[in-house]
Amino acid sequence: MKFYIPTEVYHEDGAVLKHSSEIASLGRKALVVTGRSSAVKTGALDDIIKALEDNNTEYILYDKIEENPSVGTIMDAAGIGRSQGADFVIGAGGGSPMDAAKAIALMVQNRDTSEDILYKPLKLKALPVVEVPTTCGTGSEVTPYAILTRDDIKTKQSISHKIYPVLACIDAKYLESAPAGLIINTAIDALGHLVESYFNTNATEYSRMASLYGMEKWAVNRDALETGKFTKDNYNQLLFASTLAGMAISHTGTSLPHGLSYYLTYNNGVPHGKAVGIFLPGYLAFMEKNSMPGYKEAVAKMGFKDTRDFTGFIKKCLPDVCITSDSIENMVSGIMQNPGKLLSVPVKTSEEDIKGIINYYK
Ligand code: NAP
Ligand code: FE
Repeated sequence: MKFYIPTEVYHEDGAVLKHSSEIASLGRKALVVTGRSSAVKTGALDDIIKALEDNNTEYILYDKIEENPSVGTIMDAAGIGRSQGADFVIGAGGGSPMDAAKAIALMVQNRDTSEDILYKPLKLKALPVVEVPTTCGTGSEVTPYAILTRDDIKTKQSISHKIYPVLACIDAKYLESAPAGLIINTAIDALGHLVESYFNTNATEYSRMASLYGMEKWAVNRDALETGKFTKDNYNQLLFASTLAGMAISHTGTSLPHGLSYYLTYNNGVPHGKAVGIFLPGYLAFMEKNSMPGYKEAVAKMGFKDTRDFTGFIKKCLPDVCITSDSIENMVSGIMQNPGKLLSVPVKTSEEDIKGIINYYK
């Protein structure tokens, strides 16, 4: 067994300003990577700029990362980072800018290369990355993954390189401006990471330790998620759960619900957490049907009575999503050609099983 999380994690009020000298110590010029508005709205960008200015560190801002970032956007940002001499990268926002920061760090470091290296099995270094999350789902602040939209294969996929952030500064205040729907969707993404990592061929006692404790921390927020009313404690617990979930998937990867969700997001624009959530009841039911060891313990840790109770919760939180039959065909054929995701399921999985997982939600 192996447990390896090299990221230095600070989860506390004022994390960015409290650790400004550590952030600034990573280089001379930062490329700060954000989406169009949330980094400003949450106050995360102000904190990052103050942290850098207090330490006389130069920076460039790239604020054009879209949801489910594309390879084209990564290359655009990397071009700016290269030409202006950035030597470390700070990602601030949800999973999209945080993932983008890792891929950009790779492309700036390997300055004479083209985008072809993103998906090649090469051993390459990246510039140091700092992550500041403003959602409570992806755990990207501790994972080595960077999921990008790939138009060439019409889905999303993590780049081939494992880029762990050097530093993660987690502060619940950045969630306060988020609409309830975003907190719910991203909390369901974290739940997906916990479930898919726990029921996974690559799971070990160490990774399950992270999953089970993450489930326990996640569970106390059930009422808040159902009512859409959150306190500072909820934000802190959901962030803790999502970071633990990130540590779990760093060791195991995700499984079928994530693999299927990428098609739904690519083809139908369904936000990530929602797209994952639709497939979780079917995945859990599949584990129950196959008498998977740990099923009862995991369901209880998440605060549910059984798969039915779990499904009721997901339906209440995601009332407005549906899957069309042509998209089912597309997902099934795509996932059947994805050996990594199929092998992550701890029981042999046929095409019929996958259809069962998808249709379970209907
Ligand atoms: P996101 O795509 O980063 O952001 C979704 C939307 O929420 C954006 O419009 C964003 O605005 C806004 N937003 C973010 N924080 C906000 C806040 N505090 N208040 C108000 N609005 C806010 O959402 P996400 O669900 O966190 O990330 C999804 C991405 O992460 C997907 O690409 C997914 O594949 C990836 N992911 C990565 C991992 C991993 O291990 N690396 C795991 C799971 C998912 P702006 O555009 O203005 O920022
Ligand atoms: Fe996810």
